[in-house]
Amino acid sequence: MDQAYWHGIAEALTFPTLAIIDGRKVPARSGGTFTSVNPATGRAIAEVAACEAADVDDAVAAARRAFEAGVWRNQAPTARKKVLLRLVELMRAELPQLAALESVDMGKLVRDAHGNDIANAIDILQWHAEEADKLYDEVSPLPPGNLAVVRRVPLGVVGAVVPWNFPLNMAIWKCAPALVAGNSVVLKPAEQSPFTALRFGELALEAGVPAGVLNVVPGFGETAGQALGRHMDIDCLAFTGSTSVGKLFLRYSGESNMKQVWLECGGKSPVLVFPDCGNLELAADQVASGIFYNQGQVCSAASRLYVHASLKQRFIDLLVARAERYRPGDPLDPSSGLGAMVDANHASNVMRFVELGRRSAQLVTGGEAATVGGAGSFIEPTIFSDVSPDAAIAREEIFGPVLSVMTFEDESEAIRLANDSIYGLAASIWTDDLSRAHRVSEQVTAGVVAINVVDPVNPAVPFGGFKQSGSGRDLSRHAVEKYTALRSTWIRYRH
Ligand code: NAD
Repeated sequence: MDQAYWHGIAEALTFPTLAIIDGRKVPARSGGTFTSVNPATGRAIAEVAACEAADVDDAVAAARRAFEAGVWRNQAPTARKKVLLRLVELMRAELPQLAALESVDMGKLVRDAHGNDIANAIDILQWHAEEADKLYDEVSPLPPGNLAVVRRVPLGVVGAVVPWNFPLNMAIWKCAPALVAGNSVVLKPAEQSPFTALRFGELALEAGVPAGVLNVVPGFGETAGQALGRHMDIDCLAFTGSTSVGKLFLRYSGESNMKQVWLECGGKSPVLVFPDCGNLELAADQVASGIFYNQGQVCSAASRLYVHASLKQRFIDLLVARAERYRPGDPLDPSSGLGAMVDANHASNVMRFVELGRRSAQLVTGGEAATVGGAGSFIEPTIFSDVSPDAAIAREEIFGPVLSVMTFEDESEAIRLANDSIYGLAASIWTDDLSRAHRVSEQVTAGVVAINVVDPVNPAVPFGGFKQSGSGRDLSRHAVEKYTALRSTWIRYRH
């Protein structure tokens, strides 16, 4: 699978551009569209339906009708599982096309999309599908003559609003458990990356998900996203995106129908490298991939590195050598190291942070915007050292390939620095001392604390944050809990 292969796949792609509402592919009621641009070339790809409040109303009404009719939730769990597993097979058959679709849509390296992101998204769908007929309910411990059956029942209509950095993954992280639980869903992909979510919706219909059960409404945040957030007939809103927009969803809920809101938001995840780290080479490999994968556009990106002062120069040298492997290149060339930033606007936001870094810290490598073949929005892998813990580049989510390196003298300082953030999504600790690993991980406030690895993800392990990184957990059996309510049925019988 070389560059020519991937360009061939990309040239043969058809782009899904219509919303999916009530089992049909439809334009926006207004007829409005927005232009999708390939950030690696700057060229327009397609015009996509720009859904607004009226389209969201249609989608929610269809979702509600499907829910009330019971066409999905009243199917046997095994029947729902079979439909979702059919969807898994349809998606696997299109893996190269889905990978190329995501690559040209938002600049991701096709190698990563094919080998990791899309493949993992489909595995996660399969994991949840297989869960459908393995969810048990509870019986409460009560005195004789009483039986309380506690069932997890679907909430009704779930709205899902997702970002552009892992478009299909984020859609599946929300939709799969919501569908497994028996809900209807209205999914809004990010305006920067609508295609794989739309294809997911098309394939779901082909697999046998009934009309109205999974609706996809591409559109802008302020219009379609806000309409979902404020809708009076949505029971639950699951959001992944920035912390600032996450806060808006809490407000929308309070100002509308008090729908449940689950937030997966930003991060500024710390890595702590202790002097007893047994494999510095591996640690450097993982830190580099933790900050440069997907151009650093990862919520759990390893963007704050704290190394013990005695290791500083050695570790920076190891990182600089690795940064060489992440040179920007054509995202459709499997030998490229970094893809394009999602769009020119985001690239210039990241470069603003780089400029702040130049003024407040030591630039070790990178620091320049780049083009490939004279076009596109690319940024070199960038490392700053001697960063003050108070500097903007140490505190704010940059969402780009920019690493801030700082030092610590002892364990308690390392823990204090790691926790000195409004975020609490992920953390990584490098040590061969088992007691230190447990001791430090207990004190670091993060939803996923990884020892001797950076940012591991598996469908069996909950993912989500503390503090302003959000609430709720995606993945694992706990994900289904967010899309259900407990209903207690209490029976008194003659004893
Ligand atoms: P974003 O918050 O700008 O957009 C996310 C979604 O919200 C998009 O669909 C967008 O259209 C919509 N939106 C934007 N403004 C809105 C508004 N006013 N009302 C309603 N909806 C609105 O985020 P982004 O730039 O797409 O993604 C990057 C962010 O996502 C980063 O902060 C990253 O950390 C976060 N993220 C978090 C996780 C996680 O699991 N915690 C995973 C991936 C990304």
